[in-house]
Amino acid sequence: AKAAGRSTFQLYQPSMSEEILVRRSLEADLRRAVNREEFEVYYQPQTDAKTGAFTGAEALVRWNHPERGLLSPVIFIPLAEELGFIGSIGSWVLKKACMDAATWPAHLTVAVNLSPIQLLDRRLVRIVKNALAEANLPAHRLELEITETSLIGNDVQALAVLNELRELGVSISLDDFGTGYSSLSYLHRFPINRIKIDRSFISRVPNDPDSVSIIRAIAQLGTSLGMKITAEGIETDEQRVFSAGGGCDHLQGYLISRPIPYKQVACLFAEAVLQ
Ligand code: C2E
Ligand code: CA
Ligand code: CA
Ligand code: CA
Repeated sequence: AKAAGRSTFQLYQPSMSEEILVRRSLEADLRRAVNREEFEVYYQPQTDAKTGAFTGAEALVRWNHPERGLLSPVIFIPLAEELGFIGSIGSWVLKKACMDAATWPAHLTVAVNLSPIQLLDRRLVRIVKNALAEANLPAHRLELEITETSLIGNDVQALAVLNELRELGVSISLDDFGTGYSSLSYLHRFPINRIKIDRSFISRVPNDPDSVSIIRAIAQLGTSLGMKITAEGIETDEQRVFSAGGGCDHLQGYLISRPIPYKQVACLFAEAVLQ
């Protein structure tokens, strides 16, 4: 907008205040949404890179807004973090995901995203333990996804929590790997079971040689440190073939499936077992 010069400035102003108005109304709505549980969990299936068989799914929250329809977490998760609602939304997602996964075939896992705020909450370990117990889901079927941002500046507390979660039998994935402030020291200092290579790299293969090298290097490093590797955001068959050949053991992306409601994913998993 700046580059466009003075003439557009006046046009820009109303949209700014409009944005603030939308935010204000969403703030009030979010408060209500937490109480009325207007959220829904969608699931994006993941597959084994070699066999193509399902390995589990990632839980992705949506807000079923009474007037605005299905809202993306990209819009409301940051707002929920800011307003102090992320704890209750996160616990609800965790509980729901464990309940849902408990109905799937027993070899399938469920991955749940954790906000940095949840990771630093002293109640987290108990919340996870309760969610597993209530759903009667074995701990090894739950993966918790954290980002590197959660670890920066909170190493001591984060390490303690992650160790406790690992003691429960839950596994830990490092999400969006390669974006943000990646530090190799995280990989050996924290008990990480899986690296999820960010979609921004996957989307550039096979044409961008740098992305090709980065994916191969991450996969090699992670594997040699005893970790598993997921390639995120697989949209084309070329990306699938490259990722499988480049050392990724699990795949996730629109090529396999978009995130879908519980009923659909449950059918998909049940049918796959029959085949
Ligand atoms: P994420 O954890 O990196 O999740 C993957 C996102 O990429 C999802 O967006 C998914 O729909 C999208 N995606 C998957 N495959 C493809 C693909 O092939 N192409 C493209 N273009 N996109 C793909 P979604 O569902 O909108 O979620 C966005 C983000 O919101 C998530 O990114 C995660 O950071 C956050 N989020 C979602 N659910 C939760 C939650 O329950 N708790 C917390 N704290 N954050 C959540
Ligand atoms: Ca994730
Ligand atoms: Ca991700
Ligand atoms: Ca992300």
